[in-house]
Amino acid sequence: MVIFLNGSYVSNDATISYNDRGIQFGDGIYEVVRVYHGELFTATEHFERLVRSAAEIAIETEYTTQDYIDICKQLIAKNNIDNGTVYIQVTRGDAPRNHAYPIDVKPNVLLYTNTSERPMQDMQQGIKAITAEDFRWLRCDIKSLNLLGNIMNKQKAVTAGAKEAIQIRNGIVTEGASSNVFIVKEGKIITHPANNFILNGITRRVIKEIADAESIPFEEVTFDEKALKDADEVFISSTSLEVMPVVEIDGENVGQGQVGPVTKLLQSKFDEQIITNQA
Ligand code: PMP
Repeated sequence: MVIFLNGSYVSNDATISYNDRGIQFGDGIYEVVRVYHGELFTATEHFERLVRSAAEIAIETEYTTQDYIDICKQLIAKNNIDNGTVYIQVTRGDAPRNHAYPIDVKPNVLLYTNTSERPMQDMQQGIKAITAEDFRWLRCDIKSLNLLGNIMNKQKAVTAGAKEAIQIRNGIVTEGASSNVFIVKEGKIITHPANNFILNGITRRVIKEIADAESIPFEEVTFDEKALKDADEVFISSTSLEVMPVVEIDGENVGQGQVGPVTKLLQSKFDEQIITNQA
């Protein structure tokens, strides 16, 4: 497999220095972009978010959104990717270990591809989730490499035989360990506002556009654990999980324990967007 590292297309046995700030401090940011039938999906939105995340921690990338898109296209062609993802990681660069930002450091830019199919079975049947305390930091809007809180909670879910941990901070449902969380109540979609407590998901934005086009009320307001458990439908969203129904939380059925009609409608409209993306 060919990867992109600091300006060159190289073999995937290329290495990164032990002095990389991403390794030592998690001092970097990343993105994951979906590829459907060889075509990037919502790539501009992902790279605009990457540039924003970088700016929030004062990392200056030499590449523009269009440069990143061109690199992704090269990698998709070189690795012959049909369905999969491109992973993009930018760290502050190599410097002797010292907490403060080093001066005159050049970011390390890494891109590679993965092959993966859409999670069709889970999307049809829905998944189980657990709730977990959201003990992450207060800048969850930055897509940082620091994912300890996320991975600890994801592991709790997996240990419990579930696929996602729905995180709760001070009684408020924020987001999943690697997804945004939505409830449906009396025909309305409700999700946490896009502020510092969550990552403003690109899939979340697509869902909002679909809801607007379908005249489904879409409210960005906080809701608590009781509202989560009393919801008619619950679903999560992410680049790899798309619109993923949650049919059981903490061992209890959501609604009737089946994929609900609003979730199904969003899934079918999402499918249409994937098809349009091909055209
Ligand atoms: N929140 C978190 C914590 C995530 O890791 C992800 C997945 N990247 C999301 C939300 C969903 O974001 P997106 O739809 O852009 O993949």
